[in-house]
Amino acid sequence: ADSLLSVKNLSIDFGTPRGALHALRGVELEVPKGRIMGLVGESGCGKSTLAFSLAGLLPSNGRVAGGAILLNGEDVTKMSERELRDIRGRRVSMIFQDPMTALNPVATIGRQMLDIQYRDAGGKAEKRRRAAEMLDRVGIPDAAAQLAAYPHQFSGGMRQRVCIAMALLTKPDLLIADEPTTALDATLEVQIIELLRELQQEMGCAIVFVSHHLGTVAELCDDVTVMYAGEMVERGTVRDVFHNPAHPYTQALLECDPARIKDATRQLPTIPGTLPDLVRVPPGCIFRNRCEHAWERCATEHPPHYAASGPRHVASCHLLDKEGTA
Ligand code: SF4
Ligand code: MG
Repeated sequence: ADSLLSVKNLSIDFGTPRGALHALRGVELEVPKGRIMGLVGESGCGKSTLAFSLAGLLPSNGRVAGGAILLNGEDVTKMSERELRDIRGRRVSMIFQDPMTALNPVATIGRQMLDIQYRDAGGKAEKRRRAAEMLDRVGIPDAAAQLAAYPHQFSGGMRQRVCIAMALLTKPDLLIADEPTTALDATLEVQIIELLRELQQEMGCAIVFVSHHLGTVAELCDDVTVMYAGEMVERGTVRDVFHNPAHPYTQALLECDPARIKDATRQLPTIPGTLPDLVRVPPGCIFRNRCEHAWERCATEHPPHYAASGPRHVASCHLLDKEGTA
């Protein structure tokens, strides 16, 4: 009902020399106001593509092949470049794995933070004050003086804090975080996750948090969406999905270290087998060549999102078909 972000049946193709690569197919995502959604899956599962598409950012060979991305009821996929620029940094902000992606190396932090506020009320002094306040809030020591500094003068962890300050400066409804702690050591990672949680509670923004680190997702997120080979295979609360995984792929991810999920296990476990060819997407279940439960039905019929354990818990696996003749 009070969904801030609602992704409906989203499909995204990439042009390749071999033909269209179907990077995302039929993805559904619901993020209510103020909740934190984790997006997990192996590299190549489409989680970053999905995250970037939420801000209207696709590589030049990418296109929306179907579906909708509704942000407060407005379809991001139908917006002009100008409308997109307008929502980015205002209603939607992003932080990235590499903070330098978001920073201009030849402009001071203060200059960049003034630019972000170009449409906000108030004079220059007022905007500088707001920028310094935000830097202070994310834990930059001597914040007012740091407005004159350039990005390279900060360490990696401090640079990510600067990016978080910049991303939240205009109080967006939605923060998209694409593996923001992957490049940091474990101590800094814990600090940044703690900071994000505090800021989320203070500011009430929703967060889509992309990660291949299950422990971090368990720590930070309310809900989780598990992606595999361009599809959403399972979705629910962190409690439902991590304690009662319904999809064999999620089960395989968790099986490797159920008790150690909160450990600093930085990589997802490796599951035998390879990802299917997404130029020629095979019929049936996308996971079947790696699934130990696969049977004939899985080769011909694509599994819909079946209800699983909790009220909002769904998974795409025929094993959950109560009416089925398995
Ligand atoms: Fe395995 Fe079949 Fe379920 Fe796919 S639908 S995950 S192949 S049991
Ligand atoms: Mg990625």
